[in-house]
Amino acid sequence: MTVKRIAICGFNLESNRFAPTCARRDFEESMYLRGDEISVEARAEYPRLHLGVSGFYQVMDDRFGGAKGWSPVPAVLVGSTPAGAVEESFFLEFLEELRVGLAGADSLDGVYVCQHGAAIATHTHDPDGDMFRLIREVVGPDVPVVATLDLHANVSEEMVAATDLLVAYRTNPHVDVYERGQEAAAGLLEMFEGVRPRSFRVRLPLVAPSVTQLTADGYPYGDLIRLGQSRIDDVVMNVSILGGFAFGDTPKNGMTIVVTTRDDSDRARQLALELASAAWNDRHRYQPKMISLDAAVARAQEVGADDSQPAILFADPADNPGGGGRGNTTHILRAFLAAEVSGCALAVFYDRAAVAAAFAAGVGAQMSITLNSEEDSSFSDPLDIEATVERLSDGVFIGEYGMVAGKTVTTGPTAVLVAGGIRVVVISNRQQCLSTDYLQAFGIEAAECRSIVVKSRGHFRAGFLHLFESRQVFEIDVPGLTSPNLAGFDWSYLPRPVFPLDEDAQWSPDGV
Ligand SMILES: [Zn+2]
Repeated sequence: MTVKRIAICGFNLESNRFAPTCARRDFEESMYLRGDEISVEARAEYPRLHLGVSGFYQVMDDRFGGAKGWSPVPAVLVGSTPAGAVEESFFLEFLEELRVGLAGADSLDGVYVCQHGAAIATHTHDPDGDMFRLIREVVGPDVPVVATLDLHANVSEEMVAATDLLVAYRTNPHVDVYERGQEAAAGLLEMFEGVRPRSFRVRLPLVAPSVTQLTADGYPYGDLIRLGQSRIDDVVMNVSILGGFAFGDTPKNGMTIVVTTRDDSDRARQLALELASAAWNDRHRYQPKMISLDAAVARAQEVGADDSQPAILFADPADNPGGGGRGNTTHILRAFLAAEVSGCALAVFYDRAAVAAAFAAGVGAQMSITLNSEEDSSFSDPLDIEATVERLSDGVFIGEYGMVAGKTVTTGPTAVLVAGGIRVVVISNRQQCLSTDYLQAFGIEAAECRSIVVKSRGHFRAGFLHLFESRQVFEIDVPGLTSPNLAGFDWSYLPRPVFPLDEDAQWSPDGV
């Protein structure tokens, strides 16, 4: 048997139309790997790359008896913390680097693309589609191309047409990233055996607010995904149901269902329409349930003053760096400080200048500091606080819980500031708080906090589950770049009417 040569590549960005643009530096800060670096990280014990790639390698290594039986051709793999549109010049440079990497590798047998799928660029609504088309053009029509996608991907027809198999995550928080990489590998192996995948895509005029897209029991999106999985059989190879990312604000926004079968186009179409109908009939359940800031303050005061009550976990979904938020709005912190809330921790607050000031002052120093002194995003107001520097760190740790379990995390230079009864973990590499590790790593015992505020929309849930039941978790309704209140945004490209923004949005399978 000849050694299978499989190209590995990927571009991972979730773009929020309302956030500042991003470019090379944002990717280099997060993930920018070339050539053999990709293979080394993919097989590392605590990888610094997207775990889908590790899952893909694991299956291939197993199938071919280790690294010698197949030959990964790692091209280029990049990822940024969610941000705004990617700048055209950088994206075109990236595409050229990818093109050279693929074209220089002769006789490829397959391609694995590790992609987020909800990027926008300053020059196009569909950079993911452009990239998939480029891959297809370089490798030709006969080389199988498989891709994994985040379930927040906004999937264009171009992305489906240029690939043989799309495999989207099925969990939110995303705790099946590794397994979906494995599934993509298994699909590619089937194609090596002669299977011909057939896909059908349906997009609904349904833009579900982010906090309604959880997949746990009791959530409509989870129910829909489980319905889809119940249809997997000898013919149905994959059912991917993508909730999409509203803030991309593109013409391709809307929940999308992609069904892939083993050489049965009719079945793919019929099942995709059946699932789309089920989703549409259930659309009224996609409504956010948040509490007001006043109510949150009252609850935080209450548990701070009474140890016998269960602790509370508050989320700030409107300032989620995992959706392009800056991770430094001050609405909640300001209100909690004013109300003299005690026993509280806030993780994590992005402010490089504040961290630098804390490092200059040193551990134990007391200082008057203005948070957001160098931030100009409209939601990120400055806030003057009196704080003590409790801890300084390089911000590198290995995660134990949730989406960072087993991963090396880098928050950059990090400081714990104590202001009143609140400890604030201030970081230099913008990202969301994914688990209790973001407290423990900096000396804060999460189990001893009376309340915790996280800058995250929903991914934090997987990393706090061991301490907080869902009835102890509340989302606070404050303004921000990623607010689940979709009516508050000035949409430009979202196809209208769309539910729930427009109650009168219509859809029927007959028109597809
Ligand atoms: Zn996602």
